[in-house]
Amino acid sequence: MSLQDQNIAILGAGRSGLGAARLARLHGARVTVMDEGDPARIAPALEKLHAEGFDTLPGAPARDLVVRPGEWSRAVISPGLDAGWPLPKKFTSAGVPLTGEMEFGYGFCRTSLAAITGTNGKSTCTEITAAVFNGCGLKSLPCGNHGVSLSEVVASGENYDVLALEVSSFQLETIRAFRPRVAVWLNFAPDHLDRYPGMEEYFSAKARIFENMTGEDLAVVRAGEPVNSGAARRVTFSAHGMEADWTWADSVIRHPGGEAPTGGIRLRGRHNMENLLAALIACQSFGLDVPDMLRAAAGFEPPAHRCELVREWRGREFINDSKATNLHALNACLLAMDRPVILIAGGKDKQLDYAPLLASLPGRVRAMVLIGEIAPALHSLFSPHLPCERAADMDEAVRRAARLSQEGDLVLLSPGTSSFDMYTGYAQRGEAFRAAALSLH
Ligand code: ADP
Repeated sequence: MSLQDQNIAILGAGRSGLGAARLARLHGARVTVMDEGDPARIAPALEKLHAEGFDTLPGAPARDLVVRPGEWSRAVISPGLDAGWPLPKKFTSAGVPLTGEMEFGYGFCRTSLAAITGTNGKSTCTEITAAVFNGCGLKSLPCGNHGVSLSEVVASGENYDVLALEVSSFQLETIRAFRPRVAVWLNFAPDHLDRYPGMEEYFSAKARIFENMTGEDLAVVRAGEPVNSGAARRVTFSAHGMEADWTWADSVIRHPGGEAPTGGIRLRGRHNMENLLAALIACQSFGLDVPDMLRAAAGFEPPAHRCELVREWRGREFINDSKATNLHALNACLLAMDRPVILIAGGKDKQLDYAPLLASLPGRVRAMVLIGEIAPALHSLFSPHLPCERAADMDEAVRRAARLSQEGDLVLLSPGTSSFDMYTGYAQRGEAFRAAALSLH
């Protein structure tokens, strides 16, 4: 596809926008990167774009832009922007085709894709998948919604045997031809209800991952998930005792070719064993052997902020699960804990219903410390059932949790919602927890 001398608008000045801008220019387009966000907030991104010689339209000029029909051949939208927002709407109203960044990158991609979606575990599974490919001699990279965007990888010109591509529902909203060779469906649970009108819309967006797949492709689906994987061949997995093609129980994987122990794997919890199973099935379809794959997986270092042990202090373990930005993740992490928990939870009010969590608390959670804008609501919900305290910031939360804990307990930050009321993101929140835990003496 040549974009020679076409005017292309890139909507969103983040990592995805940068990748799309590079790729469009590589194919001959005249590129303008636009972002309605506060120019001060996006200053580092703008600096990078300017350093590479891109025209930009940040803040008010983007808001005031008048889009005339015929002026632009295409607009490429980053997954962080909603197609219903004013800036993308200006383009669609003027009849300019709107393409998602991932679909745009896919249009120029000549590498096989193992795509991974799900409400939780995408990043972990994507990283394991890439690690297993690389460990078994197939050159791979974790990318997509995770780190480097697909457009950026394609624009880099670097050759890979297969890409492990994390795919979010937002990226799937705008696909047309996107067809991975393998698609993994890890799980589905309520999330992002601040962006979608309802659960069905979120589910339908995710399920589009299978839309263009054929009988030559592979769908890797968690057992019991009520999703239609279309024409692709379907292989199932479970670490939760469901009947499936690949299962994990008592530290052993059972698969159609036999059994294999998972003793050397450093991931915690059943949910992570599901991430591992999905990764192994995806990788096996590229001709890899189970023993080789498990050797490669044993070298995999679990990623930060996901059930990560930060510190032992006076017989307590401090665990950072800041990446739990919805209740399904919080619940999975809680179920993986084998000692009494003092739970630090709360953050932004994403309209999620915490009430179902009440069922997981007895016998597991000794007390809770609540943070963020949703703390008062959580306090009313949980305080009739167990000791609950509120904290104004992470230092106070960790100090209160330490005081509430007993020797042998776990102090767990697993917020169950996003962090944007207090932090720039889950990583900053996790670092605040780490610093607070390390400062205890
Ligand atoms: P994502 O990229 O989908 O957000 P991550 O791998 O970053 O997924 O993990 C996010 C959170 O979800 C972590 O806090 C982790 O404890 C939890 N989690 C990871 N894998 C699973 C899974 N397979 N099922 C349920 N929860 C999970």
